[in-house]
Amino acid sequence: MKKLSYYFLRTFYTKYSSLKKIYKYDEVPKDILVNCPSCKSQDINDFYNMDRYGFNVHTSWCSNCGLIFVNPRINFDSYNRLYMDGFYRRIIEAVSVKKQKRLDEIPKRVALALSKIVDMYKDKELDVLDIGGTEGIYNYLDENLKIRKYVCVNPGAEEADINVTSNVEVANTTIEEFEAGDQKYDLILLFGTISHLMNPYEAFLKSRDLLKDDGLFVLDFKDNLTRMKAVNLPFIQLHFDHPIYFSKNSLETLVANVGLKVREHITYKNGVSYYFLAKENNFSGEKSVNVETSEVALMAERSKKASVLSILFKRVFRK
Ligand SMILES: [Zn+2]
Repeated sequence: MKKLSYYFLRTFYTKYSSLKKIYKYDEVPKDILVNCPSCKSQDINDFYNMDRYGFNVHTSWCSNCGLIFVNPRINFDSYNRLYMDGFYRRIIEAVSVKKQKRLDEIPKRVALALSKIVDMYKDKELDVLDIGGTEGIYNYLDENLKIRKYVCVNPGAEEADINVTSNVEVANTTIEEFEAGDQKYDLILLFGTISHLMNPYEAFLKSRDLLKDDGLFVLDFKDNLTRMKAVNLPFIQLHFDHPIYFSKNSLETLVANVGLKVREHITYKNGVSYYFLAKENNFSGEKSVNVETSEVALMAERSKKASVLSILFKRVFRK
């Protein structure tokens, strides 16, 4: 009965019915995950079976590290095409009432984090790998730093519209699929991109391997558990185009598991944190996961208990 009501709900999710014309989610080939994509644990549970757009999206959560993730999820090829073929932009434009941010500009908070990097590296010549980078980030770095080599890895061709020169390279792919070669980097950036990773374990491990010994891996993220606690219906924070949802705990578990350490982190009032990660020199490869996941279990319970009526009510009366 409950299954039927959710089917009904999805079908009549009218605000977003146009999305289903833009993107045929049900028809896209998907992979079923039997392991947590971040800590590899097989101890995974159901989270919820709908996303904020009303698509038929199933999510799981990991009892070991607390990661919430889309499962099954669209496969690598389809995920790349979601960006390459412009579906992602069209979906975002259809659901967002806000004016779209310009790709050649960067938000103030990103500029703040970048300015910290600029202070650190003032006069050093740098090799930079920017995962999910945009023209705006490149322009900022190019103006304020001495860049020897800059590589942008982003499957979104439009987003990564950066002028390629002898020292600037754009790879239209994901970091997981990126063929890196022997180059090592002083600085690896992952801004606004962490929840787009298909395989965070591989992405972080690769980033660690691509760092020079004294290199920095800098990323931003929002603690999804805190975000979900702040709303009545936690599932409305989930959407299929973000395959993973880190909390502070699950992120720090991953960091430790791949041999990185937190050198510094800053959290702003809006909930965005910046992590400055360095290589852990004494990394033995042993995993030491000890994460309290009861809060995630509680979120899953809260999502399951949400009645169809309350979801519809919210959808109709709250924008
Ligand atoms: Zn996990």
